[in-house]
Amino acid sequence: MNTKEQRIKIAVQKSGRLTDHSLDLLERCGLKFTQSKDQLFCYGENMPVDLLLVRDDDIPALVSDDVCDLGIVGLNVVEEKRLQFENNGGEGQFDRVFQLDFGHCHLAIAAPEAASYDGVASLQNTRIATSYTGILTDFLARNNIQAEIVYFSGAVEIAPKLGRADFVCDLVSSGATLSANQLREVETVFESEAVVIQTRAPLSDLKQEWVARILQRLDGVLQVRESKYIMLHAPRAALAEITRLLPGSEFPTVIPLEGQPDKVAVHAVCREFVFWETLENLKSAGASSLLVLPVEKMLA
Ligand code: ATP
Ligand code: ZN
Repeated sequence: MNTKEQRIKIAVQKSGRLTDHSLDLLERCGLKFTQSKDQLFCYGENMPVDLLLVRDDDIPALVSDDVCDLGIVGLNVVEEKRLQFENNGGEGQFDRVFQLDFGHCHLAIAAPEAASYDGVASLQNTRIATSYTGILTDFLARNNIQAEIVYFSGAVEIAPKLGRADFVCDLVSSGATLSANQLREVETVFESEAVVIQTRAPLSDLKQEWVARILQRLDGVLQVRESKYIMLHAPRAALAEITRLLPGSEFPTVIPLEGQPDKVAVHAVCREFVFWETLENLKSAGASSLLVLPVEKMLA
């Protein structure tokens, strides 16, 4: 096997909502690459990992066809492609291996503000415009609704104004685009966030090792986002209560304090956001000299 085949290829959206987050995450995992977004291909300088910058819709097929080993893409796109493969009597050769906790949005059915809506039955025998024909077909079938699906490749929200559809089924995060088009959300069809997909094609041991390493580092990066390192002094007698109050920490380190037999220092990684209230509660329980520090890297 030549060395080129031993390099991991990750498909990332070239230019769009997922691009900056995806590249930022990979950088936090220690990957250094030439970050020109005009280029289709980014060579990893310090790891055998290269990036292919493509349209997000192409990512599942690139991973399924083993052109890329991994891909970072919205679950909405993954599910739509999975259903397309299924409708064609096949199966997408990719698996979801990691949730990334960004790119949160949902596929929703929206109605013109003036239209009445009284539950899914109101969709019966109507026309619904969407780019997500697979997910919508699946949703309608599960709800025993017969409706005409009108395919729009983009700008779905203008379909009712054009008289092309009664409802739209489109991605929503804040809802601002819907209200700008005098639409209101009436049904949630599918919840989505960015995920990592991996090809089902067998990987060499070396590649598998790198994939495992990347996923472990991603896990570490996501964990430290909310994590804090807390240091405090506690009366020995209050140790149990103070340990209980530390948010999301399993095993705090307890250190004796020189010349203070009744007191200890407690250090703990808290895997949840540390609120002022938590610090105040710790103080009420007897803690003093409280210090909250950011965590830069973590390896479980
Ligand atoms: P491309 O040119 O790569 O095909 P696109 O226009 O299809 O880009 P974007 O609008 O950049 O895609 O969205 C990429 C992904 O971001 C979506 O598939 C979805 O997973 C996620 N996303 C998060 N919030 C939203 C939102 N409000 N609208 C659309 N997508 C969103
Ligand atoms: Zn797209």
